[in-house]
Amino acid sequence: MASSAEKRVGAACEDLARLEVAVRARVHVEADQALWSVLQRSISRALDYDMRVCPWEYIESHAWKLEEACWMALGVLLSGPLDAQARAQAMLPGALGGLALGLPTRTRAAATFQATHAAHAQAAALLSARLRRPHNGRQDDEAARRAAEVLRDAGVDVRGGEPTFTMAARRRYEAGPWHSDTPTSEVFRFPVHATRSAAPGSAPAVAAGPPRAQRGHVHGRTLLGLDALAATELHAELDVHRQTSMLQAGGPGSGSFWSTVPDRPALRMANSQWAVSTKCRLGICRAPEAGLTCVLQNRGDDEPCGAPLDSNLHHPTVCRAGAGRLKSHTAAVAVLMKHLRATGAFVALEAAIPELYLIDDDGVVHERFMDLVVWWPGGSRRYLLDVTIRSLFAAGLTTPHLLPGAAAREGEKDKTRHYRAALQALATLHRESAEFGRLRPGTTNASALALGRLRADLEAEVARHAAQTQLAALGGMSLRALGWATSAQQWRRNDAHGN
Ligand SMILES: [Zn+2]
Repeated sequence: MASSAEKRVGAACEDLARLEVAVRARVHVEADQALWSVLQRSISRALDYDMRVCPWEYIESHAWKLEEACWMALGVLLSGPLDAQARAQAMLPGALGGLALGLPTRTRAAATFQATHAAHAQAAALLSARLRRPHNGRQDDEAARRAAEVLRDAGVDVRGGEPTFTMAARRRYEAGPWHSDTPTSEVFRFPVHATRSAAPGSAPAVAAGPPRAQRGHVHGRTLLGLDALAATELHAELDVHRQTSMLQAGGPGSGSFWSTVPDRPALRMANSQWAVSTKCRLGICRAPEAGLTCVLQNRGDDEPCGAPLDSNLHHPTVCRAGAGRLKSHTAAVAVLMKHLRATGAFVALEAAIPELYLIDDDGVVHERFMDLVVWWPGGSRRYLLDVTIRSLFAAGLTTPHLLPGAAAREGEKDKTRHYRAALQALATLHRESAEFGRLRPGTTNASALALGRLRADLEAEVARHAAQTQLAALGGMSLRALGWATSAQQWRRNDAHGN
């Protein structure tokens, strides 16, 4: 069994070597994202089968080899090696700010082996008896017991058949930031994804987690618990900048862009955009050198912005020069409009809403516009949608490094403030908002929307524009930020070390 694991890892490493060659040769302007997809969805999973049937000690050395090879390849994709913290974050699921890179680890293998054993041990013994084959069940039982111990040490108790936190782990999790997003009672539940279209007018896809779907899948739910604990531990280690990047990139349903096959144009990114947005997510997008200034420029201005660029490149996310902000807003509105129209809705863009106009004390009328006004044929209700995109690093945010979704919540508060008077007057008005990656089933009544697709498309669009702004703010330095300007020497040096 272990030898077939070796064979699988060998094949995976060969694939990774070919992948690295393709990245370095820059075979296509959109190749890197596709190569990531192959790495994330296939190559990194080379040992998934072995983890189900082999105790960890038989596959450990192969797992280690696979892991290192994958990190090397991702380093090549991102033009620089990842540190331990970035690696740990990349392995988290999207909802916890990661890239959903499911590499084999000791705890993951323990969860897989234990769950497989629990589900099939009885059947295997029965089948062996029927076939009169020898069955070394005791050895497997022993290995499963050890796996359960590994899980308990990591904080997840599976002895009762249902995964739960140990007392200590529960305390650890509840002291961390993710608890406010996903309370302990929800950690071991699969999120309710409203990915399938429902007929217009049917009940919105917000029904609480169906108990039937939760019953099985002990394995997946154990992993949810392990990931939640890993994310909590990682958060405690990170600096404020990286804590912010991680927390604001997470949230239920977020990050699916990084684990979705880019099978439609809306999801595709150019190599530079993909690398920058992936690095931003991991909090490792940095200025290539100190003392650089922002070169974003408004049309018609003689001079670029000129503000000093901080090492973590926060400035471009809040810079008012250039058309970046406007462009990403327009793009997000366009995505929303496309998806709404696909459900058969009528959509009006940039519509004036006299009911929302405010008349101040001096009698001056302040107009109010909505990005989208939506209604469905035969429907009695009109939906007003206004899109806002918030920077994670905006000055007004108080605790974005401690509170997931702080940027989104602040954006929502702004909207309420903006329309407050009118909202009070129009009790029946439905205010709906879509923020970067935090659109939850239930925030919109339009049940015909394919929320999963919409969310991925919105996420891709906003991330693409954010990356574009970062690259534009660096001007000619952006290539060096991507590690391209010195690539030839750098790679020669790395190769010399590697071989
Ligand atoms: Zn600027």
